[in-house]
Amino acid sequence: MAKAETYEGGPCAKGHTLRYVKGRGCVECRRDKGRGKRMFATPEYSAALRASHRRWKENNLKEYRLRGSKVNARRGGWDHTLSVDDVFWPTHCPILGIALDYSVGSRNKGGPATMAAPSFDRKDPTKAYIKGNVQIVSMRANTIKSNATPEQVARVAEWMRVFS
Ligand SMILES: [Zn+2]
Repeated sequence: MAKAETYEGGPCAKGHTLRYVKGRGCVECRRDKGRGKRMFATPEYSAALRASHRRWKENNLKEYRLRGSKVNARRGGWDHTLSVDDVFWPTHCPILGIALDYSVGSRNKGGPATMAAPSFDRKDPTKAYIKGNVQIVSMRANTIKSNATPEQVARVAEWMRVFS
């Protein structure tokens, strides 16, 4: 999330002066409120919060995937300007034909479920995550693709045909 813009304004009821540009709320009071919520969260409240996040995720799988890819892009130093409508969301991997599972995590690398996770593949890897440069493939296909050159993949395939 982008850092919210702030300004020095009139003091709040507690005498703080730093305020958010948007909504003019007091920065320190907002922070304390957030802290308090976490500190006094009951197990029931935490569980309800987790359940609500999970529900959101299940109802917004594309947005969920997009957010994950944004984190990855930022980590790699890439711009990411995609919105849900900028991406084609196939039901199956266009390379391998396997059914994609948009709800499965892609962190547990190597696990069987992980390979069905969708993965954002850039057509031109020297360009950012922008409209037209990204296609969704399976994690498995993307892993194979990113670990080798086209020639190496072809050689492995040839080897497998002959020796297995
Ligand atoms: Zn305040």
